[in-house]
Amino acid sequence: MIVMGSNAMRVINKIGVDAKKAGTVDVDFIERRDYKTLELLSSLDAAKDPKAPAKSYYRPDLHNELKRVALLGLGCKAAKLVLDAKVVSVDINNASATLADGRVFKGDVLIGADGERSIVKSSFSEPGSIQQAPFKIFRSLVPTSVFLSDERTRRVLDLSHNRFLMFCHPTNSLVSVLIGRNSDLIDIECGYRRRKGERAIDVSDQAAIRARLLETFKEYHPDIRCAIETATVTTDWEVWKCKPQKHLAQGKAVLTGDAAHSMEPTTGQGGSQGLEDAGALAVFLSNIGSKDEIPHRLELLAKMRGERTAKVVALSGVRPGEEEIIRKNYPRHAINRSSIKNGVEHIVFLYDYDVIEESKKTLQAAATPRASL
Ligand SMILES: Cc1cc2nc3c(=O)[nH]c(=O)nc-3n(C[C@H](O)[C@H](O)[C@H](O)COP(=O)(O)OP(=O)(O)OC[C@H]3O[C@@H](n4cnc5c(N)ncnc54)[C@H](O)[C@@H]3O)c2cc1C
Repeated sequence: MIVMGSNAMRVINKIGVDAKKAGTVDVDFIERRDYKTLELLSSLDAAKDPKAPAKSYYRPDLHNELKRVALLGLGCKAAKLVLDAKVVSVDINNASATLADGRVFKGDVLIGADGERSIVKSSFSEPGSIQQAPFKIFRSLVPTSVFLSDERTRRVLDLSHNRFLMFCHPTNSLVSVLIGRNSDLIDIECGYRRRKGERAIDVSDQAAIRARLLETFKEYHPDIRCAIETATVTTDWEVWKCKPQKHLAQGKAVLTGDAAHSMEPTTGQGGSQGLEDAGALAVFLSNIGSKDEIPHRLELLAKMRGERTAKVVALSGVRPGEEEIIRKNYPRHAINRSSIKNGVEHIVFLYDYDVIEESKKTLQAAATPRASL
């Protein structure tokens, strides 16, 4: 499952994604509850913009819908999808990519949307690096019907409707429960502090995963433990976070998505920022008089996106609703260098951002001095 905040939904709605086809579920609140008592700790409104309220998607459904729209070319030229195409090298000055089978693709712009271990990023003269976060995450999907069959999991389900819900241990772990796919599936994500040097447990070793899961979350409320135990297959995920990338554009290439800004998943913004990138690209690469303008357009885009995503990345490990606690207890945390004081302001910063409007303003501002000459 993936939550798309209002900032991403503004782009998704604009490109013609069909919410029904994608099986969306409303995410009206972001809530924290105590891991032991289930007491409500904070509740933040995530549906303030009626035109673009936050939604949860089952990832394959969102991918398929984005693919459908891209291949139809709704409102623009249809995309061509080349599958089974491993890129082995790129030339960022020529906007070309060479595949493992020797084929070379060349264009006007090379968009590096190839994830946190981006081959495009590695071709930049100052490629930023990534570092492993102190947490890992166990992830499982369970049919809602399973939750309905037991009164303990039914209680968890009742608390989870229309919410991005986190059951929080004060420092070491959290369990988030998210309903999606027309409410037919439940995503259980259990974030926990990894041991030093520990890598992800292989998915084939379900016994080891289960043992670690039950040990790590043994102090959680019995209803939550019961919910965790419903999973038949669980995967263990490492989390990697980028160190600031100095330039998001170089030559004829630009970085987007996790290639530009991999982050912690706590605020649910990694994919949403990728959608913001897509919205910005659509504006900055439209209405271009000559191809010579492209490098300047990419520079403007990179500056605007770099400033926004640096702040989002820095706060990506903060559980929404815990801002005041983090400010007080961790004076050196990046949140103390930001203007964000509490959960409401954090959600406003993330969700109220309209990337299409901001991109238009940036382009206009850059054009104004030239027009007056
Ligand atoms: C536990 C967890 C929960 C999350 N929850 C949320 C959430 O609720 N909301 C949210 O907005 N974000 C969330 N995220 C973040 C989100 O999943 C990522 O930010 C997003 O998937 C990144 O998308 P991407 O397309 O940029 O990169 P990727 O998903 O990594 O895609 C990169 C693609 O490039 C391809 N590729 C790479 N190298 C090559 C090559 N050499 N040749 C050809 N192809 C190549 C890969 O195969 C892959 O398909 C979460 C992340 C985690 C770990």
